[in-house]
Amino acid sequence: MRLLVVEDEPDLNRLLKKRLEEAHYSVDACLTGSDALDCLPGAEYDAVVLDVMLPGISGLEVLRRMRNAGNGVPVLLLTARDGIEDRVTGLDAGADDYLVKPFAFDELLARLRVLLRRAGGHTSDVLTLADLTVDCTARTVRRGGEPVALSSREFDILEYLIRNQGVVLSRERISRHVWNYDYEGGSNVVDVYIRYLRKKLDEGRGPRLIHTVRGAGYVLREEV
Ligand code: CA
Repeated sequence: MRLLVVEDEPDLNRLLKKRLEEAHYSVDACLTGSDALDCLPGAEYDAVVLDVMLPGISGLEVLRRMRNAGNGVPVLLLTARDGIEDRVTGLDAGADDYLVKPFAFDELLARLRVLLRRAGGHTSDVLTLADLTVDCTARTVRRGGEPVALSSREFDILEYLIRNQGVVLSRERISRHVWNYDYEGGSNVVDVYIRYLRKKLDEGRGPRLIHTVRGAGYVLREEV
């Protein structure tokens, strides 16, 4: 899952990127509102962590412009302890949640999980399809009750597929959600990982769940 972090304090910006990457998110980090507005149209983020107090274009202004442009990506605001007005304005302007600084990193992670669940219409971080179970928090996979060992990248792609099960996803869309701007591998790398996933998940394990839709991309679904 891919996140945009907008935070002007360089140390906190670096720390957020590092800790979120350790939690297996792919992260683009911006220091200003105008950088954020540059990053947003070219990517498909699964959530945005947005500091309210930014020099120049404020976090609230970034949020307003996003929503006016029809961008409905979940937004978590970072606000000051005395920023009640910002929080109310932010929620009214379309923010999905907020955290008051200073915050515990574990709480940030928990709030992000809630936003991502809600956005996908799921009630749990344990997602299932047929006899496949993917635990997005523990990052474990089972098929037919048996554990399946995946690499980190394989898991990232499977997580995106199962969060969007039944939806045909183009290679570009998959790569835009799984890799950040630093990645230059191109979308055909998705094909390589899909091959690995099929080998581990589908071969000799009952009905195929990963399907190719010619000219469109891939879809995870149970075919009847
Ligand atoms: Ca700030």
